[in-house]
Formats: sequence, structure tokens, C-alpha cells
Amino acid sequence: MNSFPLDITRIYLEPDVEEYARGREILLRFPAAERTPVASHWRIPELQDANPGDYLLAKKQALVLGVKKGLTFRPNGRSADFIAPSSSNGCAMACAYCYVARRKGHANPISTFVNIEAISAATVRHVARQGPKTVPNQVDPQAWVYDLGENGDLSVDAGISDNVRDLVALFRTLPHAKGSFATKWVNPDLLGYEPQGRTRIRMSLMPPELARLLDIRTSPVAERIAAIPELHRAGYEIHLNFSPVVLRQGWEVEWGALFTELDDVLPAAVKDQLAAEIIMLTHNRELHEVNLLWHPKAEELLWRPDIQEEKVSESGGVNLRYRTGWKGQWLRRFKDLLASHMPYCRVRYAF
Ligand code: SF4
Repeated sequence: MNSFPLDITRIYLEPDVEEYARGREILLRFPAAERTPVASHWRIPELQDANPGDYLLAKKQALVLGVKKGLTFRPNGRSADFIAPSSSNGCAMACAYCYVARRKGHANPISTFVNIEAISAATVRHVARQGPKTVPNQVDPQAWVYDLGENGDLSVDAGISDNVRDLVALFRTLPHAKGSFATKWVNPDLLGYEPQGRTRIRMSLMPPELARLLDIRTSPVAERIAAIPELHRAGYEIHLNFSPVVLRQGWEVEWGALFTELDDVLPAAVKDQLAAEIIMLTHNRELHEVNLLWHPKAEELLWRPDIQEEKVSESGGVNLRYRTGWKGQWLRRFKDLLASHMPYCRVRYAF
């Protein structure tokens, strides 16, 4: 088993953090960490200017504590109905393709927000405004689903504070809503949170050989798969997140083997409620250039102009996606492969 990916020695904290109980609790949890006051969790020069060779150390040792300002909810319609205001951003893991926002620099260690009461209260108000869900959709037939972890991985966050425990507890009390997050880390602490079916974990999987190259610092795929039945028994709804789908020679063989393994090990109770989301790789030039500085082997798989095409994003960045036409065919083949091995696994969405 991978050891916990954090060994916090430096805490950067905004001025108001100690006014919040959660802020004080976290500081007590890491008493030996050196504290550095910062004006904003977004602007920390030593993180923004970190050398690529130091990214992994910063992810392991640095923690940022701040107060979440804009408590807004964004409609989504893919992984969830709404993206909730996040209780954290950044990640201790270092997946080479990771596209979470990196406004505090590419090392992007975890920032934990200490105003969890305000985040929870805003969620309660938002859920109340929706009322019952009357029109089923692919996200969920009955509940409004809120993505709680768009900007990081909540299984690791749960090792820093009780924010995740509090959110799981909150959704137990909201009959029209479910919380949801994708994860690549196995944290046994989650087994004691009593989600009572109101939190959906989207276990993120790819063939193990690929994950060894791309999913840096995450739990090995075998551990993630082994955790699924336990999490389900503990009361989580479990979906699968096949993301990103990275194509290389022989991809159908390696994905087919993963589906076979899942079919062998997942108990009927998991299969009965299973669904999956499938997301083909999108890469971008800026990340490619950063990755070349610290993990060039990953770029041999991610940067494939021979089978990708450029697309200018809304923000003006250059994205690379598998070529139109080919991408559609590959996605069809992927879905057919999944259906032939795991016919009970509904595909919630694929793109
Ligand atoms: S686990 Fe998720 S958030 Fe963390 S580096 Fe990987 S893709 Fe990014």
C-alpha cells in the first residue's frame, strides 16, 4: 500500500484562519509545521515560482489554509447536476494529465478551506431552492447530485481535516440531494463516515500499467478496485470513472483486462447499482511543456499530435484532443468493449 501522500512541514495561512474552529483544529493536528502567514491562498510566491523538480516535495510537505470566498454553485450536467463550492483545491497527488486549476502554481499542493459551516449552509439553501427532482436524468433518477471535489481529491483531504466527514454527514440529511466525488486514493477512514447511500464515490480507474506511468502518487489500481466492495458495504454508492482514456497501441487489450478483473471481483450488490463515466484524454500545450521538465515519459503517451488535433479553448489556451471522427470511433469501440465485459454497467456519459 502507498503511504499517505502527505508529510506536512509548512503551512501557509490566511489571516482569518485561526478565527475558525476548523482552522484551529487543523493547526493542532500539525503542531510541528512551520507557519507562514499569507495574504491570499492564491498568491504564494514560493509555490508559484517553484521549480518543476520541486513540485512533488511541495505537494507532500505544503498545506495552504484559507477561507472560501465565492460560495457559488455551477450547473454541470455531466458528473453531477451542480458543482458545489469546493472545500479545498489542489492535490497531493500528481497525475500527469491533471487539469484541475493551478492558479497557485503547478505544484498546486492542497489548500483546505476552513469555513466549512458556510459552505455547508450554502449547500443546504441551494438544495432547498431546487425542491424534489421531478425529471430523471443521466446523473441520477431522483437526487440532485453535487460534485464536492472538482478541484482535488477528497479521499486525501479527509486526512487533513473533518471537512469531508462533515459533507458526507450533511448529505445524509438532504433527501433530495447526493454528494459525489471522484477519487484515486484509498482512505480507510471514509469507511466510518456513514454515508447511508447519500454520497457517491466515483472510483477513477485505468489499466494498471498506464496508471504506473501517469497516476503519480496515487493508490495503485489494484487497491482502488479492492476498496470498492468495502466502500459500498460502508454505505457509499459507487460509480466508476474511466478517465482519462489514454490511447496507445494495444489499448483494447489492456482496458479489456481491466474490465474482466472488475467483472471478476465486484460483488453483485455493487454491479446492481453500477454506472460509469468515460472521458477521453484532453491535453494542453502549457501542461505538456511543464511535464517535459519533470516527467517526459508521460508526454510520450499524452502528447500525440499524430492522432490528436488542436482546439482553442474558451480561455484562449490550446487544447489537444483525439481527432474528430477517430475519437468518435474509438469511443464507440470503448463502450462496446465495456458492454461486452460488464453489460450491467450503465454508461452515464461519455465524451
Ligand atoms: S488525483 Fe485528481 S486532482 Fe489529484 S492530481 Fe490526480 S487528477 Fe489531479
